[in-house]
Amino acid sequence: MSRSDILSLFEKYGILSTPQRLEVAEILLEKPQHMSADQIIDRLRDAGSSVSKATVYNTLNLFGARGIVKEVMVDPVRKFYDSTTHPHHHFYNVDTGELRDIPDEQVRFSELPPMPDGSQSESIEVLIRIRGEG
Ligand SMILES: [Zn+2]
Repeated sequence: MSRSDILSLFEKYGILSTPQRLEVAEILLEKPQHMSADQIIDRLRDAGSSVSKATVYNTLNLFGARGIVKEVMVDPVRKFYDSTTHPHHHFYNVDTGELRDIPDEQVRFSELPPMPDGSQSESIEVLIRIRGEG
C-alpha cells in the first residue's frame, strides 16, 4: 500500500498522521497478514527504525480502536493485528503460533441459537485451534 493510500485511510478512520504511525501502518498494511506487536517491532528494528515499543503498542491500540486493523485475540495474552478488517474465520496453530485465514465459503453453520430478544447477529467469527505442523 502506498503512502498516499495510507494517508487517505488515516483520514477515513480519523487517525492523525505522524511519522511513527506511518511506519507502523506501512509494515502492517503492506498485504493481507496477521502480525503480533513484537513481530512489528522486529520489522521496524530490521528497517533501522527507532520508534519505541510503547509508541508501537499505543499506535496498534489506536489502529484497533478506530478499525483500520482488526484485533484477533488468540488467548488472553496473545493478540494479533489483522490487515483484513471484515469479519472472517481463522486457524490458530498453538504449536507454531501461526494465525491463518479460513476462506469464508469453507465454514457453514447448520444451526445457530435464536438471538436474544431485540438483538440481531452482527458477525460470526470462528477461531479453530490446531496443533502440529499444519
Ligand atoms: Zn485474518
